[in-house]
Amino acid sequence: MNKLVVISGPSGVGKGTIAKKLIERNENMTLSISCTTRNPREGELNGREYFFISKEEFVDKIKNNGFLEYSEHFENYYGTPKDFVLEKLKEKTVILEIDVNGGLLVKENMPNALLIMILPPSLEEIKNRLIKRNTETLDKIEKRMQRIEFELSKKDKYDYLVVNDDLNLAIEEIENILK
Ligand code: 5GP
Repeated sequence: MNKLVVISGPSGVGKGTIAKKLIERNENMTLSISCTTRNPREGELNGREYFFISKEEFVDKIKNNGFLEYSEHFENYYGTPKDFVLEKLKEKTVILEIDVNGGLLVKENMPNALLIMILPPSLEEIKNRLIKRNTETLDKIEKRMQRIEFELSKKDKYDYLVVNDDLNLAIEEIENILK
């Protein structure tokens, strides 16, 4: 049976890169695409990084029980479209790149889901990565740092913890877990 794999971890930890590389290297894996009400960042495409939808559409989808889980952060909604994931699971291992609250909700709904948390080598390191990414103001970065500490406090509820010190090693570690 194909697995549902949740990859979480503080933003800036490199989980997006890890998820992308995993599906590039493994034909039997695919990435779920979440819905969000936030605006696309430069270079992001609708239907590729996210389905970018309005708040009204999002709320309708909640009412219709269309999400496996959803959560709100930074005044925007993010959710995993249920039908989309179940459809993809028929063919491949599906990777969800979502936040910790979402991951724990998925586990409640689907206890067979495997939860993997990517950890930064240090908190300092992650702050530097966020600043380098240069998509946000310092004030927002501070808010993200608080969120990061919250996410890290939930790590014991995850099935596996993988430190992203060396990208290739982190990817190999996840591939071994999935084997
Ligand atoms: P960003 O705005 O940087 O793309 O994502 C912000 C946060 O939302 C990240 O922690 C990301 O993992 C999380 N996120 C993305 N998609 C989903 C989703 O479908 N559900 C939940 N709960 N969180 C998500």
